[in-house]
Amino acid sequence: MNPVSDSCPHREACCQFGRSDKIIYGFLKEVGTNVFVHGTYDYDLAVIGGGSGGLACAKEAVNHGARVAVLDYVTPSPLGSKWGLGGTCVNVGCIPKKLMHQAAILGESIHEAVAYGWEVPAVGDVKINWSALTEAVQNHIKSVNWVTRVDLREKKIEYINGLGSFKDPHTIVATMKNGSKKELTARNIVIAVGGRPIYPDIPGAKEYCITSDDIFSLAHPPGKTLVVGAGYIGLECAGFLNSLGYSATVLVRSVPLRGFDQQMAGLVVAEMETRGVTFHRRAVPVSVEKMENGQLKARWMNTETKEQSEDVFDTVLLATGRYALTADLNLPAAGVGCVAPNGKIVAATEQTDAPHVFAVGDVLQDRPELTPVAIHAGRLLARRLFAGGQQQMDYDNIATTIFTPLEYGCVGLSEEEATRRHGADSLEVYHAFYKPTEFFIPQRNIRNCYLKAVALREAPQRILGLHFVGPVAGEVIQGFAAAIKCGITMEQLMNTVGIHPTVAEEFTRLNITKRSGKDPNPASCCS
Ligand code: FAD
Ligand code: NAP
Repeated sequence: MNPVSDSCPHREACCQFGRSDKIIYGFLKEVGTNVFVHGTYDYDLAVIGGGSGGLACAKEAVNHGARVAVLDYVTPSPLGSKWGLGGTCVNVGCIPKKLMHQAAILGESIHEAVAYGWEVPAVGDVKINWSALTEAVQNHIKSVNWVTRVDLREKKIEYINGLGSFKDPHTIVATMKNGSKKELTARNIVIAVGGRPIYPDIPGAKEYCITSDDIFSLAHPPGKTLVVGAGYIGLECAGFLNSLGYSATVLVRSVPLRGFDQQMAGLVVAEMETRGVTFHRRAVPVSVEKMENGQLKARWMNTETKEQSEDVFDTVLLATGRYALTADLNLPAAGVGCVAPNGKIVAATEQTDAPHVFAVGDVLQDRPELTPVAIHAGRLLARRLFAGGQQQMDYDNIATTIFTPLEYGCVGLSEEEATRRHGADSLEVYHAFYKPTEFFIPQRNIRNCYLKAVALREAPQRILGLHFVGPVAGEVIQGFAAAIKCGITMEQLMNTVGIHPTVAEEFTRLNITKRSGKDPNPASCCS
């Protein structure tokens, strides 16, 4: 037990207590009937949630000499899916999603290879083996779970496989799988519990539908699938399922990828439609019932005409957003009151209204739900807590990519948001359709390969947003995201010499403005 009186990071917020041998600082926030006075703790930092943000914060904290414990616990999905240490990204998010996207791309490449002269036997019969795919994906995930556990052990971070909740501001109770309880105290506590899929309140949702928590380990091929929701997850899942050979239908409540540049979202959807995905617009689910043959009858309603439609599917996948996992935490016991109605924590600088309790990652209100955001915020927080760091997380200009069949990568403002903030007259939008070289053999649809730069009109035309629909969009946008951070202008972009032949070089070739009304279609591959 180490006295913490001299090093308490919240000395200003705490009160002094005289003791015969020394002064200790007491945290006097009144919580119900509890008045917690701290002096010694089991850990300098306890992290609730061993996902992207929590693990990054924990590892950075031990690098700076802190004694750290991480609690991680996965409550099974209604279908019974559960997984290991590492959080959403590793187990039921970015990683399995990217692997299934890659499987879909490879399937298409087999067909394309023939046009390049590859002699593929019976290419018409090529089809995916779903159980081989899920087995390969799950094996990779298990190896990451294992490496993560070993990493924590080597770094001397205590891993507790229990569901954490607050007993008082500095005490956490972990409920283990067998129901036993373990208590620990910590001077600082980071909440990094992430979120889980929302089930719409319709008959049959929890009984018969699956979510992204289940799809990557689904024991049987999904077959004909209805995807409810047209956000990141809905479009990505519909995209890879369709490319893997499973019919996919998407219900769009308002617009696809709401909040994103709608011209780009339109191209993403147009490409998916060309490839066979069906979209029902202005459609909300009404019910899902199981038929005698085991298939699912789904009904939905058009929100404008109120007309109802139905169809039969093998799988209904709900992708209607995610809620934060704060309900189990007993936050009032910690003195954390800044919780939005959706359960997310409001904490502008990751510090909650209990000064020693912090939050990072998906659990935060109004922050992008992205792995690198959680990781970066977690690391910076650990440096501020244990290494005298001053740097705050900058949530602006965070690049992202939607891994649809034609990917969409962007950084900065959409054209709509730039117009709202600056006015259309103050903007110059450069744009172009382009032909990726690899789309010539075999001739592939290039109608939706498009990019644009949204810039201020006044010289030197600082760039506010870059948008790209095409192959490897994430790889293309990542470097430009660094340039945007550095304040890149159109002048500088146009003076950048491209790498030929790549799709990323298309940004350096932009020269047509929307205002000019000139044709943004490409003339030839090397013009
Ligand atoms: P999480 O990674 O969710 O970790 C929280 C952990 O805390 C979980 O293990 C949870 O079980 C545990 N926990 C919860 N409550 C408790 C408790 N009381 N006690 C103990 N443990 C608890 N982001 C990208 O950047 N790129 C992508 O391509 C991408 N694809 C995605 C695809 C899908 C299908 C999904 C669902 C998400 C995707 N994301 C992607 C988002 C990304 O996964 C999240 O932003 C990221 O995982 C958030 O990290 P986190 O640390 O906040 O929470
Ligand atoms: P999301 O992007 O918020 O999309 C939710 C979708 O469901 C929206 O289209 C929404 O329609 C619709 N919806 C919500 N309630 C509905 C209802 N009752 N009936 C019908 N439709 C409904 O959420 P998400 O796709 O679940 O993704 C969650 C987060 O994970 C994302 O914000 C993202 O940050 C992260 N993620 C990232 C990646 C990536 O980086 N590639 C991939 C996947 C997930 P409205 O628009 O009308 O509300």
